[in-house]
Amino acid sequence: MSERESRYAIDARGVEVTYGDGTEAVRGVDLRIPEGEFFGFLGANGAGKTTTIKTLVTLLSATGGEISINGHDVDESPRAVRQTVGYMAQETAIDTDLTARENIQFACEAYGVSGDARAERIDELLDLVELADVQDKTADGFSGGMKKRLDAATALVHEPPLVFLDEPTTGLDPKARNRLWDYFERINEQGTTLFLTTQYLEEADQLCDRLSLIRDGRIVATGSPDELKSQVGGQRLDIDVDAADPEPAVAVAREFFGTDATIEPTDDGLGVTAESARERGTDLLVALRDADIAVTGFNIRAPTLDDVFLAITDDDDSLDGGNAGEPASAGATDAEGGR
Ligand code: ATP
Repeated sequence: MSERESRYAIDARGVEVTYGDGTEAVRGVDLRIPEGEFFGFLGANGAGKTTTIKTLVTLLSATGGEISINGHDVDESPRAVRQTVGYMAQETAIDTDLTARENIQFACEAYGVSGDARAERIDELLDLVELADVQDKTADGFSGGMKKRLDAATALVHEPPLVFLDEPTTGLDPKARNRLWDYFERINEQGTTLFLTTQYLEEADQLCDRLSLIRDGRIVATGSPDELKSQVGGQRLDIDVDAADPEPAVAVAREFFGTDATIEPTDDGLGVTAESARERGTDLLVALRDADIAVTGFNIRAPTLDDVFLAITDDDDSLDGGNAGEPASAGATDAEGGR
């Protein structure tokens, strides 16, 4: 292991995974995640997130590329990799016939956390995920959020420096989600590197130092949330129109902005993303009125990660994806202001 590699919790290059049936789920993914980073891996259903994670945690063998986790090569030292990672899978792995405490005890046995250290570690984890009060209750009566928190605790018993979270908050209500976020932030502040996959843009925006967007097995953009938002460019103008069909309004906006804007129909009218959306917004409203289109409302705001996601998933050419799969440059690695 070289000096340089040891700085990365994850150093993956050109990873490819083709399933037995020929599905090319991952097509040349590069990832370099520095130690201590809170990294987000975003993509739609079927984009390749889970396949990538399973490959990184040695549950699946890549059909191409090289992967080093915490300085250990996944092919040469899979045991060492497993001992240094925690994995919270999409499906909760807890046993609902066991109590919260017993579930964590069971995980300690599986990870070889020994006698003396064990009781203390279990108490610490129960406190951390706020389940100490219900530690002797069986998990079958737990809410979805409590089950997820318990599951997260079981992934941490061996104090792994790197933890993978595969869509950890899917299906949780906002309150339960917030509690889990607090918990992830806490372990990240304690120095744990986190690799989170999510379909919730808000989650990635709130938590992640840096993120990559994956689409059809390829990374199409990488950066801090702010960097990605700035790639969309300009401001977002939402205009509500009093018409069943937004297309005439969309046509007016397209003619007005030409190629300087991304314009799309929305449920209530149209959305315009453009550098000049703020300055030219009023003139666009006049153009719509001149075309006999009744505007019932409008709103201007900074772009969100949703806009980035839509721009990328809707249109290959809308962002410069060319450099996106590059491993983190020094600049991107330092991009911690995005939080
Ligand atoms: P989701 O959010 O739905 O979990 P994902 O981004 O995690 O999606 P993957 O589960 O990695 O995506 O799937 C990537 C692609 O690989 C999809 O086309 C999926 O249908 C396919 N795939 C996943 N598992 C297998 C398998 N065991 N055999 C064949 N194809 C698979």
